[in-house]
Amino acid sequence: LTDAAEPVDDSELAIEGALRPAALAEFIGQQKVRGQLQLLLDAARIQQRPADHILLAGPPGLGKTTLAMIVAHESQRPLRMSSGPAIQHAGDLAALLSSLTPGEVLFIDEIHRMARAAEEMLYLAMEDFRIDIMVGKGAGATSIPLDLAPFTLVGATTRSGMLPNPLRDRFGFTGHLEFYETSELEQVVARSAAMLSVDLPASARLEIARRSRGTPRIANRLLRRVRDYLVVHGHDAGRDGTVDVALVDAALDLYDVDSIGLDRLDRAVLDMVVRRFRGGPVGLNTLAVAVGEESDTIESVVEPYLVRIGFLGRSPRGRIAMPEAYAHLGVHHPDGAVT
Ligand code: ADP
Repeated sequence: LTDAAEPVDDSELAIEGALRPAALAEFIGQQKVRGQLQLLLDAARIQQRPADHILLAGPPGLGKTTLAMIVAHESQRPLRMSSGPAIQHAGDLAALLSSLTPGEVLFIDEIHRMARAAEEMLYLAMEDFRIDIMVGKGAGATSIPLDLAPFTLVGATTRSGMLPNPLRDRFGFTGHLEFYETSELEQVVARSAAMLSVDLPASARLEIARRSRGTPRIANRLLRRVRDYLVVHGHDAGRDGTVDVALVDAALDLYDVDSIGLDRLDRAVLDMVVRRFRGGPVGLNTLAVAVGEESDTIESVVEPYLVRIGFLGRSPRGRIAMPEAYAHLGVHHPDGAVT
């Protein structure tokens, strides 16, 4: 089972890059975060200083990397990209920070996965634009302070709860990205379809949006699968050569995306809670082992959406399946709810 909201390969990353909005005004949805970022960037520009550090939190594929690029673009600053897993030693971070040019925007994706020693170095760097470099070992070790060029850190995390408080507190602003409304995803699909020269009627755009799990990355991916399908089966399409809903259905069914956009892993998790664990409660780790997936993936990718659509609930003793989940799987609810 793959993680539906992560890019799958380099060609997908390349297409993603091409579809990324470059300006805040082109960024669809997330009105609140957009307004907050706009103010922060405007204030920095008026005062001619780097913007405050920004933390972006939310499930994968909702636009965190895109917003980081927009922050750099709108403030006309260069962007340096790194990620938590690439920073496993304090020295990795020291090398990165000391090579920044004044005002540069540093993006650290999955910042919750950075090494602890690096985290501590980052506190001082964020606050005072300074780090202490340890030289030597044991009794003879000394620390040499090093001044850094001022920079703006943009951190992204799917697990803001896993960030230590001292780190979280050093961000001037935290933006929580929410799943997108269907109408917003329709706009994402329309924009991408125009860029990819795919001719889609509104009904087909709506169908893709409805089945995108509230996630622009998935909307773009489904659009490309529909485009593939159209390339191969285009002669089945309407007389004017455009796609209709039946064609979208056929394309998405082929890729195991169900009628409401759940993928195989989503359904595996629901099925496990409903059938094997009789509706729960079941602990996260037990559930992860049962479906053969990392608990981190279940918690940061699968659950947020299932909770958001009211299929899964969290209780102190674990995850529970809600009546809507039974209905979707066509299983009788123990309380006698009709399926
Ligand atoms: P994240 O970093 O949160 O995983 P990305 O920023 O990489 O997500 O976005 C994934 C894809 O979805 C990109 O191709 C991006 O262009 C597209 N995307 C995300 N948010 C939006 C948006 N608000 N409007 C248009 N496209 C978006």
